Amino acid sequence: MTNQHKQRIQKMYDAGMSVSKIADTLGIPRSTVQSFLKKLKTEDDCNACKNCGEAILITAGHRPRQFCSICCSSAVVSDSISIIP
Ligand SMILES: [Zn+2]
Repeated sequence: MTNQHKQRIQKMYDAGMSVSKIADTLGIPRSTVQSFLKKLKTEDDCNACKNCGEAILITAGHRPRQFCSICCSSAVVSDSISIIP
């Protein structure tokens, strides 16, 4: 699968096309489209900051971070502390 394929899959999926329709249009197996979309969703989930939802840049070889900055991670920590009576 080429990068062009990936971009087109993403666009067509965003436009509301079904997996089989995308696969037929690009002439690639449905399973390929499906696994790509699954990977895309997973990446979306762990790339967002848990505090502000800002996208986090993943550095190759490093574990995905939960927060975009130290400010956000400490904001969540101080929030949970202030809840304690
Ligand atoms: Zn953040």
